[in-house]
Amino acid sequence: MTGTSQGGHSHAVAGTGTGTGTKTGAGAALRRLADEIMVLVWAVDEQGRCVQLNRQARAYFASHSEFSLAGWYGCIHPEDRPLVEDAVGRATAQREDYQLEYRIVRSDGGVRWMLGVGAACFDAQGRYSGYAGSVTDVSAQHGLQQRLARSEAEHRLLTENASDLISRHDANGRYIYASPACEHLLGYRQEELLGRNANELIHPEDVAAVRAEVEMQLRRGRRPAQLELRLRHRDGGFRWVATATRAMADPRTGALAGTVAVSRDISAEKAMRQELQEREERYRSLTALLSDCYWETDAQGRFTVLGPEAEAWLGVESSFLLGKTRPEIAMDPQEPALLEYLARFERREPFRDLEYGVKALLGRAPFYLSIAGEPMLRDGVFVGYRGMSRNVTEQRRIQQQLRALSDENRNLIQNSLDMVCALDSRGCFTRVNPAGCRITGYAEEEMVGRTWHGFVHPDDYASTLLRYSEAFLYGHGEIHDLENRWRTKGGDVVHLSWSAKWVPEQQVMYLTARDITQRKQAEWRLRQLATSDSLTQLPNRARLNEHTDHMIAHAARDGGALAVMFVDLNRFKEVNDSMGHEAGDLLLQEVARRLRANLRPDDLVARLGGDEFVVVLPCAHGERSATAVARKLLAQFDEPMLVKSQEVFVGASIGIALYPRDAQTKEALFQCADSAMYRAKLTRSNGYRFFTPDMHEEARTRLTLESALRRALERQEFEVHYQPRLDVTTLEVVGMEALLRWDHPTLGRVPPAQFIPLAEETGLIGDIGTWVLREACAQARQWVQAFQRPLMLSVNLSPRQLHDPQLVTTVWQTLRETHLPAHMLELELTEGTLMQDPHVAAQVLGELKQLGLSLAVDDFGTGHSSLAYLRRFPVDVIKLDRTFLPSLTEVAQEDNVNRLARAILHLARTLNLRLVAEGVETREVFDFLKDAGCDEVQGYHFCRPIPAREFEQYLRLKLEATAEGAAA
Ligand code: C2E
Ligand code: CA
Ligand code: CA
Repeated sequence: MTGTSQGGHSHAVAGTGTGTGTKTGAGAALRRLADEIMVLVWAVDEQGRCVQLNRQARAYFASHSEFSLAGWYGCIHPEDRPLVEDAVGRATAQREDYQLEYRIVRSDGGVRWMLGVGAACFDAQGRYSGYAGSVTDVSAQHGLQQRLARSEAEHRLLTENASDLISRHDANGRYIYASPACEHLLGYRQEELLGRNANELIHPEDVAAVRAEVEMQLRRGRRPAQLELRLRHRDGGFRWVATATRAMADPRTGALAGTVAVSRDISAEKAMRQELQEREERYRSLTALLSDCYWETDAQGRFTVLGPEAEAWLGVESSFLLGKTRPEIAMDPQEPALLEYLARFERREPFRDLEYGVKALLGRAPFYLSIAGEPMLRDGVFVGYRGMSRNVTEQRRIQQQLRALSDENRNLIQNSLDMVCALDSRGCFTRVNPAGCRITGYAEEEMVGRTWHGFVHPDDYASTLLRYSEAFLYGHGEIHDLENRWRTKGGDVVHLSWSAKWVPEQQVMYLTARDITQRKQAEWRLRQLATSDSLTQLPNRARLNEHTDHMIAHAARDGGALAVMFVDLNRFKEVNDSMGHEAGDLLLQEVARRLRANLRPDDLVARLGGDEFVVVLPCAHGERSATAVARKLLAQFDEPMLVKSQEVFVGASIGIALYPRDAQTKEALFQCADSAMYRAKLTRSNGYRFFTPDMHEEARTRLTLESALRRALERQEFEVHYQPRLDVTTLEVVGMEALLRWDHPTLGRVPPAQFIPLAEETGLIGDIGTWVLREACAQARQWVQAFQRPLMLSVNLSPRQLHDPQLVTTVWQTLRETHLPAHMLELELTEGTLMQDPHVAAQVLGELKQLGLSLAVDDFGTGHSSLAYLRRFPVDVIKLDRTFLPSLTEVAQEDNVNRLARAILHLARTLNLRLVAEGVETREVFDFLKDAGCDEVQGYHFCRPIPAREFEQYLRLKLEATAEGAAA
């Protein structure tokens, strides 16, 4: 409402719509009036009765009395009515003039703006006579004004507050107006720009474009286009602006009258665009470099963009995939990673490192992708995802292989029978496998964190530490075949064989240890048995030989003297016969105990077998010392022995030989002592005798033998006998051992045990051996031919032969000349032969094996090489020595010997060797061997060594028997 009351008169406003003729007629007329009338002029008397209406208005009514102001006011907009009534009421009370604008509500609901004016009337006498006034429709005026005012205000607001620079220029381009934004945009205040030419501010390179734009608008009437151009800032630099210029033409002439320009600062936008472009560039080169593939999907997860890499993976155009979703191309739509992807997609969350398989498409092999992505928003609205895929097929394959490998390794380690463990740089356990725990008795957690020092046996600590330091501090970080003992949690001792490797990159040492306790024990027992007499536990002949050699070497070096005493019991046979073997054994044990007890620890007491003992001891004072010892020993026999609570008296005869006085070699010394003992025995009473040269009949025999042996070959005194070797299970003859026999015209049959060593010493063995080999091979070949069956011929080789450089050639030639297939020849060597010079032995054996023949270790068990050592040699067969076979009584009991034989059999099998037992004399022993798993047997029980002719008959008989057996 814009009106204000004026004047000082008042007139009463009549009661609303009362006393106005026909009510309805007047009401309808008023209503129409309100809808249509443009100008209403009225006058009311002092009572407010209408006294005058203009013609236009009067046309609506029968009489002007039907019109009332109150009725009119009834048509006023409800919002305005109280104000109007209030203002009019106040004015009339004071008889004042008023003028007000208000709205009339038309019957169609429309609104008309009315200007109501009222003035109080007074007559000539100055008496109040009523009000006169008019109502004019001002609607049209009202809207226009309002709009005008608004647009003006808006325009001002816009230009003044716009961040864009709005400028007007005259026909020459001079500024006639610049909006305040010029200060921010160009650094000039508004008034500074006025009068300046815009072209001064436009970058020289952009002026032409602006001119052309204006020209185009003038000449062609083109609509304004936006130009990007540079404007000079007050600071001298240029700012990028986007400008829309409107050329204004003179309506009469059409000439340029001026321009209006709106310029927007787009420096930031430009910079951003630049940045964007660079980024895009960067991204493009990155993706080009990466083997990864860029992708985009729509909001449904369908591919919309795919990098070129996809093509390489697919083998077809990547467009093939466009429009497809991941589950559609997945190998397994239920794959967890894929489900995770879908869940994240659903939640519009970014994801990364999700791996899924893409099924074989168009004949291409399936492949695996690792995908990462993030939701893409356009104007804040989710439109899809974008991200990268990486082909991880190869990686996955390698990973799988690695996993399989590590599983395999873990299984191997977990299930290994060997201890497998790891140590850190301080030597502390970090891991131990189950076998390690089983072997040591400790739980893994009891070992982890502790150093190995605490576990190794104190006696082996120093040597282990030495190897350890050698390998890891100064060596190349590896240990092989380190053997030591450990103490288990339960206090037992285990023997372990170690291999270790230090891995510097990991700072970890990996170790494996094999439990070799059983092997060690077997070896120890083997050695015990090989070197000691099982009845008395005294050293046996083998140990005697070995040790005597030592003592002689020692004495020779120090210029000392030795005494070798042969002690033979008297009347032992009588005790044995009258009281039984058991008593005899007990007696021998007691004798052994007494001898041992009366000698120094370094003195050697051995039992040769039967009732023969040998004592070897240093004697600084020669005969005198020896005499004292001999007397002391004999005195032991003065005391009765208690056997089975019976006092038994046995005597002894002692023969003594002195080194170096009587002889230089142990064999000779033994010979001398033996001769002396024989003499002592002749007296048939306890006593001792020193050797004297006249006793040495044997020595002369030896000389005789030697000269006889030299002629034996040419005189054809040798003959080869054969002893069959039988298969344990079938008892068929599978081969034979060639054993040399010597029949001398006067000396008679000389046993090989006597002449073979002599032949060795004199070097005659070379020729003799060659002869045996040729003879036996020719014979064997003939039998193989005659009986049409394979036979394995074993021929003994002496140590000296092994060292003969011609050996391999000789064997080769012999095989060639006799036509015996090489695989039918087996050469037997004793352990001692091998151990004399293991290096050469290994070499020669290797060469022999190359010929295709087989190799056997003879007399196994009498030496003292370890089984492990045997592995160095390419041997095929072990011949278990007779001394190893259990005796008749022993077979019955499961005693040590028995177990030992079994242990050897077992070990032979682990070494992949055939086992032949020789010297099988009884059925019981054979049964035992058969049961223990021996492969072949040889011995008197089956057949003695016999001449070729007899052997042929034996073979024929055996074959006939088998043939008959088969026929039956
Ligand atoms: P060896 O090689 O261990 O031969 C086995 C010996 O045990 C043979 O003694 C054989 O007659 C004997 N023997 C076989 N079965 C039994 C049995 O059941 N009980 C007993 N107590 N003994 C049995 P032999 O023939 O007296 O030969 C003794 C050693 O002479 C041989 O031992 C071997 O080392 C050596 N020898 C024999 N012939 C040759 C040869 O041609 N060359 C070489 N270098 N040495 C030979
Ligand atoms: Ca042999
Ligand atoms: Ca043998």
